[in-house]
Amino acid sequence: MHHMERNSGILNPEETYSAEERRSRQEGFLRDLVAGSYGSNTPLKAVMDAAGLKPADISCIEDLQKIPVTKKTDLARAQKANPPFGGFLTVPPSQLLRIHQSPGPIYDPVGRVPDYWKWKTALYSVGFRPGDLVVNTFAYHLTPAGHMFEEGMSELGGTVIPTGVGNTDTQVEIMKNLPVTGYIGTPSFLMAILKKAESMQVDVKKDFSLEVAFLLAEMLPESMRKRFLDDYGITGRQAYGTADVGCVSYECPETNGMHIHYDAIVEIVDPGTGKALPNGEPGEVVVTRNNQIYPLVRFGTGDLSSIEEGLCPCGRTAPRLTRIMGRVDQLTKVKGMFVHPSQVQKVVDSHLEIAKGRLVVDRAGDQDVMTLEVELKSPAGEAFIGGVEQTLRDAVKLKGSVKIVETGTIKEDGKIIEDLRKWD
Ligand SMILES: [Zn+2]
Repeated sequence: MHHMERNSGILNPEETYSAEERRSRQEGFLRDLVAGSYGSNTPLKAVMDAAGLKPADISCIEDLQKIPVTKKTDLARAQKANPPFGGFLTVPPSQLLRIHQSPGPIYDPVGRVPDYWKWKTALYSVGFRPGDLVVNTFAYHLTPAGHMFEEGMSELGGTVIPTGVGNTDTQVEIMKNLPVTGYIGTPSFLMAILKKAESMQVDVKKDFSLEVAFLLAEMLPESMRKRFLDDYGITGRQAYGTADVGCVSYECPETNGMHIHYDAIVEIVDPGTGKALPNGEPGEVVVTRNNQIYPLVRFGTGDLSSIEEGLCPCGRTAPRLTRIMGRVDQLTKVKGMFVHPSQVQKVVDSHLEIAKGRLVVDRAGDQDVMTLEVELKSPAGEAFIGGVEQTLRDAVKLKGSVKIVETGTIKEDGKIIEDLRKWD
């Protein structure tokens, strides 16, 4: 087994720009995005017209405040009114490489350009190198995650095994039989693979070649990161992005926050007013990504975080996002998948015996578990629990259990999803 140097080196010169150089570059692509959106008559033009703005009025980062935040729900509504992309696409659809669908539903176009989602820089920063053999455990169908990292690794010069999600036995076999050095996926799934390997009498440190893990889509507790390293010799690092805008930020070897990608302008805003907050204050992550094909100016991710400035010993100069602290709405991520309150409500509404329901998300060991607690208004038959579990599974595409609770147990606080997970 060969060991690569994974903790030094910076891939792109833009990552070490001075604050002035970074601002100048960002304002350059911001002006192009606004001019392109305006010229292509995207929904941004209507917004600007209504506010009496011309492209020349948006020339610096502070001018972004003049434009309202486009939320995920706005995007879904625009796409429904004007399918498939709500008028945001600036190229003919024939120039697209693929179209994905993510929950919402939202259609995500992929331009015919290398590494469209721009994960290459992040993969290098967390320690992936040309020559790595990587299992990519994100799904390859419909949602964009699998292809996002596939393309990033391909541009970096690595080799990918598209294992997709699930099939833990097969994942273990592959890692035992092939010199797999990298893992891409959720932290809990990596832990599940490692536990499964142990149950199959595999000595992970001896029989696997795994050195580095790119962990996304769910929280990484520091205690879990430490176990990956201490118990299995695997360096686990995080990054953050969305299906709409791709890579937003990524860790470096210092693991003191996630450097913001040089092709993203990130603001932290008050979710109520859309106004930018000072650095250090928590708020909604709003992203303007340098993507002329599908320009989303001030896209509200719905994720909560804060920005930290100050020098990082790694040499990268970009400000850093601290950890993602949750969601603005109650949209919750379970096992890396979004679960929306409306999906839970639908389950509750489709069984007449249920008076009230609440989805409780918690942790059991290293896995997310969800339980739908229900109060009844009429007696339930024998098949009730199984029937509701099936409806829940159909609605959110995840397995959960159903528990009947006494009337009055579910709090009257308007929350339909209760997240009890702790991340320390
Ligand atoms: Zn750094």
